[in-house]
Amino acid sequence: MSIPSSRFPAQRIGIVGGGQLARMMADAAPSLGLDVTVLDPTPECPASAFATQIVGDFDDLEKLSALARASDVVTLDIEAVSAGCLEALEQSGVRVAPSAKVLATIQDKLEQKRFLQAHDLPTSDFVAVDAGDVPALQGFGIPCVMKARRHGYDGRGVKVVRNEDDAVPMLAVPCLAERLVDIDKELAVMVARSASGEIAAYPVVEAEFDARANILDLIRAPAVVPAPVAARCMEFAIRCVEALDGVGIFGIEFFLDGNGAVLINEISPRPHNSGHYTIEACATSQFAQHLRAVAGLPLGPTTLVQPAASFNLLGEPGASGRPVMQGLEAAGDAPGVAVHLYGKHSVKGFRKMGHVTVIGATLDEATHRANALRGVLKVVGDKA
Ligand code: ADP
Repeated sequence: MSIPSSRFPAQRIGIVGGGQLARMMADAAPSLGLDVTVLDPTPECPASAFATQIVGDFDDLEKLSALARASDVVTLDIEAVSAGCLEALEQSGVRVAPSAKVLATIQDKLEQKRFLQAHDLPTSDFVAVDAGDVPALQGFGIPCVMKARRHGYDGRGVKVVRNEDDAVPMLAVPCLAERLVDIDKELAVMVARSASGEIAAYPVVEAEFDARANILDLIRAPAVVPAPVAARCMEFAIRCVEALDGVGIFGIEFFLDGNGAVLINEISPRPHNSGHYTIEACATSQFAQHLRAVAGLPLGPTTLVQPAASFNLLGEPGASGRPVMQGLEAAGDAPGVAVHLYGKHSVKGFRKMGHVTVIGATLDEATHRANALRGVLKVVGDKA
């Protein structure tokens, strides 16, 4: 009988982007025997506390090559990386996970929708609307949601269009228009897949959004949905990552509509805000799982050990200067509360500065305590 073996000592992981996701990946690396190097243009980026940093732009091919030389596999903390640059790395023999092809499909929201449709994965109806193409929009019909094909994130580049005037700013760039979904709940599933095809999926979670900034606000794990709804989300999320031939961890976001139908909203080719709770609440964190997947290690168990509620610490509106945390004493001695700060040197309104996860004996208890803390913990700036 042959016993599978893993490469040891350390595999070297290169990450394009050194933000909070890379920081949490790098924090998970040593116990897996992995070393991390990140490429980021900002000196002392958040991940640099746990990783070697190369200072440079994400699409600087020379710096990317330097990252690749320091790494056995290159992965991502952000989506705004040129797929062309990653492809050039792949062609020079570098292992990139997720691949340039996967990234190219996901980066373009229209291509992403076409991919879902081609694989019979449920998603809202849509149409391409090129810049200035009013007839395409009229043919599809209003109301709808217009999305910039590229460079949108955290709700930027997404607009609910209820009349033609609403569409004017979006018509400046290539877009897609999709049906406005009557959303009952927003759900998400994290799925990890390794190059060998091994799959591990986390439980379905539900997300509430901060209407002021359209940024994920409160995540509750597990989602309170009927079992068949959860089963459909799990099935579609796994099929999605398999159809992509994705390697790494992926966040699959869903809408549950008023009729109980499950629709895929979008795919993230990396650890996701809706999976931060896994650090405290699951047997393997999404960050460790991603590293395992890209390094070719066996995947870890995804069991939810305790229900959890997690929320972002966003800069207060108008905040500027160095970040100052208020209300930490409320979290200090509370059991089951984990405050994560991302080590960013300056704060701005709605910038993601950290997150908090509360685990509890029940989901209600975790939610209740998270909501109480949400009202107390604030990130302001020393200049405002
Ligand atoms: P981003 O990539 O910036 O996160 P999303 O495509 O996820 O953008 O859209 C942001 C938010 O806008 C969603 O979480 C949801 O609340 C709302 N939204 C997006 N698409 C639709 C839709 N088709 N119908 C209704 N609401 C939508």
